[in-house]
Amino acid sequence: MKITGKTKIVGIFGYPIEHTFSPLMHNAAFSTLGLDYCYIPFEVRPKDLKSAVEGIRTLNIRGVNITVPHKEAVIKYLDELSEEAKLIGAVNTIENRDGKLIGHNTDGRGFIKSLWEDAKTKAKGKKVSILGAGGAGKGVAVSCALEGASEIIIANRTIMKAEELVRYLDRHFKKTQFSAIPLVKQQLSNVIAESDILINATSLGLKGKGMLPISYKELHKDLVVYDLIYNPLITPLLKIARRAGVKKVVNGIGMLIHQGAFAFEIWTGKKPPVDVMKKAIL
Ligand code: NAP
Repeated sequence: MKITGKTKIVGIFGYPIEHTFSPLMHNAAFSTLGLDYCYIPFEVRPKDLKSAVEGIRTLNIRGVNITVPHKEAVIKYLDELSEEAKLIGAVNTIENRDGKLIGHNTDGRGFIKSLWEDAKTKAKGKKVSILGAGGAGKGVAVSCALEGASEIIIANRTIMKAEELVRYLDRHFKKTQFSAIPLVKQQLSNVIAESDILINATSLGLKGKGMLPISYKELHKDLVVYDLIYNPLITPLLKIARRAGVKKVVNGIGMLIHQGAFAFEIWTGKKPPVDVMKKAIL
């Protein structure tokens, strides 16, 4: 990569940040398209977030991705939000449009795109069970509701958080039916039996640690099982889904790539080379 006087800088703010795959993915894409951009990881501690965001303007950084733990906290420092970011209440991409900082959320769109590309499935008209009511669970729930899911069940360890999310979704989406259940075996089992799509948006299974209270016996072959986790590529949930003979079993790599691809397009205005991004990450 050649850095010149004209090179445009983009990057990612997070804390910690060493684990991120995003520089690999974006720099491979810039290089393939011959774009004079460079993507850099920035370790930003929570106490420094405000000054880091001001730095986007003062240093004329073209845009950044925002990751844990800043996705919600960053909102108060921005000039404008996209409709999706407003609905999800979190930002994962900032666009610097001539000094005006616009917050986007491409996580949900990335999920929907991956659901189609990797499982040839649309959320429209489907009964969707989402495990987890954190940032990712909310983003996925909003995106499935925007796509026209007929029913969404949120299961969470802390039931109050699931109920709060359901109240929020109820206020914003009139055509989808929402309900909340605790993340326990019996209730999950009943709900999964009638679901079309099962999504893990908890951190259970990350780095292979922890297991959801689900056994392979509860999974039916026509279910789409989507785990947002991509480390490991075959998560504990995906292992039992395979054992159950589930045909459509997907990890979170596709979502990661497509959220990045949407951000790339926001910053450069160019169609991203998705295959190159995928190869760089894998
Ligand atoms: P978060 O806001 O911290 O939420 C964590 C969720 O996991 C909450 O619902 C939490 O339940 C649940 N949880 C954590 N530990 C648990 C345990 N021991 N038992 C039961 N439930 C537990 O995190 P997030 O940002 O939503 O991320 C969730 C997962 O999605 C992570 O694994 C992350 O890597 C993945 N993710 C993937 C992508 C992608 O591009 N593929 C994008 C975003 C996130 P409580 O509410 O009860 O604490």
